[in-house]
Amino acid sequence: MKLVLIVDDIKENLYLLESLLKGYGYATVSANDGAEALGLALKNPPDIIISDILMPVMDGYSLCREWKKEETLRNIPFVFYTATYTHPKDGEFALSLGADRFIIKPQEPEDFMAIIEQVLSEFRNGKIQVLQTHESSEVTLLKEYNETLIRKMEDRMLKSEEAEKKIRIYASQLETEVEHRKKIAQTLKESEEKYRSIFENSGIAILLTAPDGKIFSANDFACKLFDRTEEEIIRIGRDGLIDSSNNPHLSVLLDQRKRVGHAKGELALIKKDGSRFLTEVSSVIFLDKDGNERTSMVIRDLTEQKKAEEALRESELRFRILAESAPVGIFTTDANGSTNYVNPRWCEISKLSYEEAMGSGWIKAIHPDDLDSITLNWQQTNLSNIGLKSEYRFTHPDGSVAWVIGQAVPQKNEKGDLMGYIGTITDITERKEMEDDLISAKEKAIESDRLKTTFLQNISHEIRTPLNSIVGFSRLLSEEELSPEERANYIDIVEQSNDHLLSIIADIINIATIEAGQAKLQEKEININAICQLLSNQFKTKAEKQNIALTFETCNHDNEALILTDGTKLAQILTNLIGNAIKFTKNGSVSFGYQIDNDKLVFFIQDTGIGITPEMHQDIFKRFRQVESSATRQFGGSGLGLAISKANVELLGGQIWVESEIGKGSKFYFTIPYKPASQAE
Ligand code: ADP
Repeated sequence: MKLVLIVDDIKENLYLLESLLKGYGYATVSANDGAEALGLALKNPPDIIISDILMPVMDGYSLCREWKKEETLRNIPFVFYTATYTHPKDGEFALSLGADRFIIKPQEPEDFMAIIEQVLSEFRNGKIQVLQTHESSEVTLLKEYNETLIRKMEDRMLKSEEAEKKIRIYASQLETEVEHRKKIAQTLKESEEKYRSIFENSGIAILLTAPDGKIFSANDFACKLFDRTEEEIIRIGRDGLIDSSNNPHLSVLLDQRKRVGHAKGELALIKKDGSRFLTEVSSVIFLDKDGNERTSMVIRDLTEQKKAEEALRESELRFRILAESAPVGIFTTDANGSTNYVNPRWCEISKLSYEEAMGSGWIKAIHPDDLDSITLNWQQTNLSNIGLKSEYRFTHPDGSVAWVIGQAVPQKNEKGDLMGYIGTITDITERKEMEDDLISAKEKAIESDRLKTTFLQNISHEIRTPLNSIVGFSRLLSEEELSPEERANYIDIVEQSNDHLLSIIADIINIATIEAGQAKLQEKEININAICQLLSNQFKTKAEKQNIALTFETCNHDNEALILTDGTKLAQILTNLIGNAIKFTKNGSVSFGYQIDNDKLVFFIQDTGIGITPEMHQDIFKRFRQVESSATRQFGGSGLGLAISKANVELLGGQIWVESEIGKGSKFYFTIPYKPASQAE
C-alpha cells in the first residue's frame, strides 16, 4: 500500500484529501506545516508528498527546496496542490524548485487521482526527472521566492477578506434567519398554547377524533360531561359515547360530514352510568400535520336548555289557558309599549278584533276625551318603568261606551332589563252607570228635599191664608151689630176660603195617592163637550172678575164627544190648566178646547198671560216646582197642580206639554186615547 504524506495547515483540506486517497487504496500521513512534514518524511519516507504552499512555520516552497536537497527524499515525487494560485509564475517557480506537479484547485477527484497515479507510475518506471536545481543565483531565487510568496500572501489575504466579507454577510443572514425561525417557533408555540388553552378552557366539551370514530384526546369538560377519564373516553371511542340504538340523526350527520367536511346536529350521548342526555354536536374534518384525516367533535349539553324550553312551553300554555278563559281583558306589549297580545275578553270589551288591537291599533277605540290622558299615562309608564292604573273608555262602533279600569305592570328579565308590559282591563261600565245613577239620585234627593222644604213653607202659607180668613170672619160673624150685607159678604169670604182650603187639601191627598202608586182609573162613558161646558160655566165668574174672556172652542158634535175615560180625572186636569191660565193672565183671554186626531184626543188651554221661560217648560211638570218663588208668592199656589195633571194624563194613557213665550202667553196641550163610547159597547 502506497503511503501519501499530505501537508496542509487547513484541517478540512487534510481530511478531504485523506478520505479521497484512502478511497483509492492509499495509506496517508498528515502534517500541518513544512517542518512537521520534513520530520515525518525523514523518519518514514512516503511514496509521494502532496503539499499546500502557504503554511505557518515552513511554507511549501521551502519544504520543496529542503525535500530536493535531502538524499533520501529527493527521489520521492513532490506534488503541489493549491487553491491560492493566481499567477502563472507560481507554478513555474514551484517546478523550478524541483516540484513534480503543480495541481490547481479545484479538481474533480478522478482527475486529481489520475494525476497522482500518473506521477507515481512515472517514478515507478524510472522516469525520475530530478530537475536541475535553479540555475540562477541564490539571491535571484530568494527574490523570486519572496515575490511568489508575497503574491500568494496577498492573494490569500484578498481571498480571506472576501471570505470574511462573505462570512459576515452569511453570518448576518444567518442571524436574521435564526431570528425569523425563533419568531416562527414562538408564534407556533403561542398558537399551540392558545389552541390548547381553548381546547381546555372553552367551557365546551371537545373531542379530537378520527373519521372512523377513534378518539385521540378529550378536554376536561368532555370528561366531566361523560363522567369519565380521558383514558376511558379514548379507550371506548365514539361508539361507546353515542347511543347508536336511538340516534336517528347519527348516520345523517356522519354522511353530511363526509360530503361537505362539517356537520351539526342533535345527538343523544351516554354518561358512564348509562344515562342518556341530549346534546348539540358540531364536527369538522381537517388534516393533521402529517396529512392524516382528523375530526373534531364540539359537544354542547342541551339538558338545561331543553328543561328551560319545556318550562317555558308549560308556562306559556298555562298563561294562554288562563288568559283565554279570564273574565278580565288581558294584554301584553313589547318593551316599547307596542301591543303584541290580547285575550278574547279584551276583544269583547273593546269590540276590536285581535288584529286591530296589535301595535298601537287599540288607541283608535279609545274615547276621544280619554285619549290625551291615556297617551300621557303610557308615556310616563314607559319612562318611569313602573306600573300604570287608570280609568278610561272604549267607544264601540255602535256609539256605546265601555268604561274600564286598566292596569299594567312592567315585565323584567333576571338581569332587570325591561321586556314589556302585562296588563288587564276590567269592564266597570255597570258600576259606572250605578255610580252615575247614585249621583243623580243623590242630586234628586237633595233637590227633592229642597223642594219639599219650599213646598212645606208654601203649603203652610197657603193653608194658613184661607184658615185665617175662616177663623177671622167666623169670629166677625158672631158680632150682632153686623149689617145683613156685611154678614153676607163675610159668609161669602168664609165659603171661598173654605173651598180654597179644601182644594189645597185635595191636591195634597192627590199627590200622596199618586206617589204611593195608589191612583186608580175609573173609566166610564162621558160627554167631553158637557164637561168642558160645565167647566167653562164654573170659571166664567172668576174670569170676568179679572176681565178675561174665557171661551170653550169645539167643532165636535156630541155624538163624537161621547167617549170612554175617567171623567173625574179629565175634569181635574182641565180644572187645573184653566185655573192656572186664568191665574197667570192679568188681562186678555183664555180659550180651551179639543180636537180628535186619529186615535187621540188633543186638548189645548191657551192664555195671553205672563208666559214661561223655555228652560222651565219641562220643570213645571215636576212635583213642587214653580217658575219662581216671587211669582208664586204673587199668584199663590202649591206647585202641585201640574205634577198632578201630568200624573193623571199619563194614567189616562196620554202626554202633556207646553208651548210658551215669556210675556206673550202659554198654550198647554195634553192628549188622551180617543175611545168612542160606541166602540166600547
Ligand atoms: P201652582 O199651584 O204654583 O200653580 P202648578 O203645578 O199648577 O202649581 O204650576 C206650577 C208653576 O207653573 C206655577 O207656579 C207657574 O209658575 C207655572 N205655570 C203654570 N201654568 C202657567 C200658565 N198658564 N202661565 C204661566 N205660568 C204657569
